[in-house]
Amino acid sequence: MQQQPSRVKRQSERNVTMTLKILILYLCAIPVLQKVLTIISKDETETMIVSFSKMLTFFSIILAIALFWVITNYVVTNKRIRSFVEVSALYGMCLLCYLSTGISTSNYKFIFALIVLMYSMELGMKFGMCMSLVSGLSIVAGDLLSCSESMRSQMFQSDLILFGSFCLLAYIVGFFSERNRKLIEELKDSVNRDSLTHLFNHRYFYEYMHGVMDAPVEGMHHYILMMDIDFFKAYNDTLGHPKGDAVLVQISNICRNLFSDRTVFRYGGEEFAITYTATDAQEAVKIADHLRTTIAMTPFEGEHLLPGHNLTVSIGVAELQVNDTLTNWIERADNALYKAKAFHKNRVQLYSSVHDRFEHLDSNNDDERIVSIKTLLSVINSRDRYTYNHTDRVVHYCETYAKYAKMSESQQKMLLYSAYLHDIGKINVPQEILISEKKLTPEEWEQIKKHPVDSAEIVRGIRNFGEIAKIVRQHHEKFDGSGYPDGKTGTEIHYLARVLALADSFDAMTSKRPYQRAKSFEEAFEEIRRCKGTHFDPDLAEVFIQAIQTRYVDDRSNKK
Ligand code: GH3
Ligand code: MG
Ligand code: MG
Repeated sequence: MQQQPSRVKRQSERNVTMTLKILILYLCAIPVLQKVLTIISKDETETMIVSFSKMLTFFSIILAIALFWVITNYVVTNKRIRSFVEVSALYGMCLLCYLSTGISTSNYKFIFALIVLMYSMELGMKFGMCMSLVSGLSIVAGDLLSCSESMRSQMFQSDLILFGSFCLLAYIVGFFSERNRKLIEELKDSVNRDSLTHLFNHRYFYEYMHGVMDAPVEGMHHYILMMDIDFFKAYNDTLGHPKGDAVLVQISNICRNLFSDRTVFRYGGEEFAITYTATDAQEAVKIADHLRTTIAMTPFEGEHLLPGHNLTVSIGVAELQVNDTLTNWIERADNALYKAKAFHKNRVQLYSSVHDRFEHLDSNNDDERIVSIKTLLSVINSRDRYTYNHTDRVVHYCETYAKYAKMSESQQKMLLYSAYLHDIGKINVPQEILISEKKLTPEEWEQIKKHPVDSAEIVRGIRNFGEIAKIVRQHHEKFDGSGYPDGKTGTEIHYLARVLALADSFDAMTSKRPYQRAKSFEEAFEEIRRCKGTHFDPDLAEVFIQAIQTRYVDDRSNKK
């Protein structure tokens, strides 16, 4: 993975302080070695035991300090405690060096200046000043206690000069290092923030999210909320870009108030990404919906000119999964946003794949039937994303209908299985036809029209799916008999096939295709009403419209 620029900067700062630390240790090592040599070459009056115990005491002190430092560096995870231990250990070393080299006559008093310098650089002026005070007092106390009475006044004077120099060093180095740090922060901010909304930008989003993925919070779930303003192009076209910019700022401020400034990003032009940590998906959806309604209820200048007379947003929510990549995570959030847009906008959509939802339909997931259906869905997904997403939406509309019409559980299941499998026969249609952006030729249409029969053939092979095969075969039949493959009429067509035909056609009408613009829900309802009795069962068509309307009642009327 590419190293981030800010990490590189922190690394080079650490290199300087590390060099200083090594220098301090090196300087401390000189008197230590000297001491060891003098102990080894003991004077004649000293007994072996005395010199040995002297050496042992000296090494024990050094070893204790070193162990203290190493152990806490590896064992203690708290940064503050670790820094405190490090400061104490380094200070201990310097003090030992000063004490063992003659105290008042020591040439190593300057070593404290290195500590003051290092900590002023690393932790700022205040900490540097404290270090100067501690070092200065140690030297003054050591010198006054160890020197002769006649030397005291002179010693005191030179110690005060030394102390003053430490303070000056801490002040100057601390000042510049703090200013430097502030400048870097400001610079980083200007690189990482968007100039219009002052939110973090797309570039920083990636850096931040890698951090989230590298250190997930245990017991919590991480979510991306991908938000896009609805009909913003129309807003800009009607009211002009400056007003559009003001809306972007207003929405950014709403996000900032609801979430932390650090977790909201301007992902693109009028797209925002928010990262949120929650105990479960329900909590994440709830907060996303709170954001959506807050924006829907906020007055924006000129919004009455928009298609829905209200400025709203759609939000896709996706959870970080085990072994996920950031690209996959974002793609799922995008996918959910796409679905939220497709389902009438102004809504929150939690990501769930056809697979996941299929799993919930039947608890007996080990059943070989389920395994084979899941495999078929995967094949569809890999060949043609439109059909996969279309299947997902058709299942959703059927679910909405089934709940509204209070169908029995067994009927609901049968309808949903049929919805999942109705286009599976498209496996036999060449991929270039499926993903063609051009208007299809009559021959190509003939190939596409084979899919209900092919779907039924595949489904018939699954144990106990005979009736589902029948529904799947009939999903392109029309109420007046003009449909295919069998030209059945009215109630000759299975009841659930008539429902499935409504859901299937409604999604085709409201989806954007290369050769057709997407109809609004209202336009699609009109079209269904126009085709009542010809294409659709007139009674079921009304129930279907009511079911969808009830499910997608928006909150425009709640606006103050
Ligand atoms: P949808 O509901 O499907 O999201 O439709 P939409 O009109 O919002 O369409 P789309 O997302 O494709 O349009 C994005 C528009 O956002 C295009 C552009 O006019 C507008 N936009 C992007 N960045 C800025 C910006 O910085 N300032 C302003 N004023 N407008 C922007
Ligand atoms: Mg957009
Ligand atoms: Mg938009």
